[in-house]
Amino acid sequence: MRLWLPVVVVVAMAVALTARVTSDGFLSIGRCDADTLGRAYGPLTTIYEVEDGELAGICHGVDDPAVYRAWSALTAFTTASERSTIAAFAGFTNTSGKDVIAYAATLDLAQTEFLVGVDLEMVQLDLPIVRRVMVHEYAHVLTGTAQGADRAEPQCASRENRYGCVTTSNYLGLWVDQFWDQDELAALDTNGYRSASEANRRCSQDPGFPSTYGATNPSEDFADSLVFFMFSNEVAPAVRPRLQFLSTFPELVQMRNRIAAAGLADTRRYVHSCA
Ligand SMILES: [Zn+2]
Repeated sequence: MRLWLPVVVVVAMAVALTARVTSDGFLSIGRCDADTLGRAYGPLTTIYEVEDGELAGICHGVDDPAVYRAWSALTAFTTASERSTIAAFAGFTNTSGKDVIAYAATLDLAQTEFLVGVDLEMVQLDLPIVRRVMVHEYAHVLTGTAQGADRAEPQCASRENRYGCVTTSNYLGLWVDQFWDQDELAALDTNGYRSASEANRRCSQDPGFPSTYGATNPSEDFADSLVFFMFSNEVAPAVRPRLQFLSTFPELVQMRNRIAAAGLADTRRYVHSCA
């Protein structure tokens, strides 16, 4: 008998738009610039520098085992090489009033470097939930740093090239081609998201989204789908094409297999919160 479990909702893991464009061009952000990086969602309490995919010391704040716990969750499914575009890993106190429990922020226009920030309350949650959050954030880093982002397009420069500014050689560009129509893309709000009510409307029309949050934009759709894929979750039939699409990428299958080999997959769980 299949076990049908309640939906686990992990909300609002936005990609912070901390990278800025000025009249002089792009202003990159130092990975240890806690003042600038803390403006988006709240003060950073710890920043670990990351070199070649491994922690390389503290450049801001204090050593924090809880933040390290989240880092360990990330290393459970990635090799050092696969996470080498993460330049810093930080803990933050969310004072923004927004439902953000983690974020991935690009530090430079070329999107070669990211900071991943984790909320200090989130990192205390059960480890399986923390792992899911880490896969979600890794998805943002992956699509942002992969080939095929059109970085020369000015209107995409400050928006992490997420929507319509990626080519069909990028995961997200391929994703949009497969699962998003142009009308829905064009209707995204200026911040790149749809409202919760609009996401609910989309879910009622198309149960293929992995979550209501995934229906807010292509980037979150990809990220939440990757979470279900990585943990080998049983999903609704309508969602399966998304997971099947992800399974066409050998590098993603390798990550999924690492999770399974570590005994961290959960094939029982039926997780679906759309429609
Ligand atoms: Zn997200």
